[in-house]
Amino acid sequence: MLPPDSHVHSQWSWDALAGSMERSCLRAVELGLPSVAFTEHADLTPWTLSPGVKVPEEWNPLLVDSVLTPPPLDVGGYHECLERCRERHPGLRILSGVELSEPHWHRARAAALLDAGAFERVLASVHSAPTAAGDGFTEVSARYDDQSPAQVVRAYLAETVRLIQQFESFEVLAHIDYPVRHWPADGKPYDPYDFEEEYRHVLRCLATAGKVLEVNTRVPLRSEVLAWWREEGGQAITFASDAHDPDAVARGFGDAVGMAEAAGFRPGRDPHGFWSRG
Ligand SMILES: [Zn+2]
Ligand SMILES: [Zn+2]
Repeated sequence: MLPPDSHVHSQWSWDALAGSMERSCLRAVELGLPSVAFTEHADLTPWTLSPGVKVPEEWNPLLVDSVLTPPPLDVGGYHECLERCRERHPGLRILSGVELSEPHWHRARAAALLDAGAFERVLASVHSAPTAAGDGFTEVSARYDDQSPAQVVRAYLAETVRLIQQFESFEVLAHIDYPVRHWPADGKPYDPYDFEEEYRHVLRCLATAGKVLEVNTRVPLRSEVLAWWREEGGQAITFASDAHDPDAVARGFGDAVGMAEAAGFRPGRDPHGFWSRG
């Protein structure tokens, strides 16, 4: 049996234009997943778009003077939809959830949302970086335009440490290697060993804080990073497709499970729970 998919987006995430909670549940049932968590985006940081950057038409209402402000999560609508899916799929455990973006920069808003949403699974993420001009923020990969790939990754990991040290109300750190998704195709390929010290620092902080590391399969997490997590004292992991459409639910989980087992992680007694070190 495949493990739970602990990181799925549906139509309740502003950027999941092909998202569907109902069809993602059908897909999860078809795959025989024990459970799925709908961890919708709470993207709290507005992004200043670089000149010439095109966004989907659907996002035009979110744009003012090249600043894209993601809309707030519709907590009421989301929970109603979740309840309908739970009624329709009693054999599938459907967890409520949220993915908080840079919650350490927006503590009051993050706390209010967690209060209102009473989510069962809370992910914390870094998706944003300061703009090159320092006058706002941008999606992390925009910084490949003016920084070296190594600078982008190091800045990302340093921000991730600040997130872990400055914000407590989350369970799982999402996609520790997020900038690798847009690693420049020209030039030196990505090698996690180039950032071993920085990865280990993040992982040590995460383990000390008692949090869970996510094995995100969007760009498969490298086995070295998972081995470092164990060595730095990490206790638990989740599996995460980060699907933004139903077809991507649990994508890559076969390989991810093999890698996790090789790194010494095992399912717990609860089939809906985290995997832990064996
Ligand atoms: Zn994310
Ligand atoms: Zn996500």
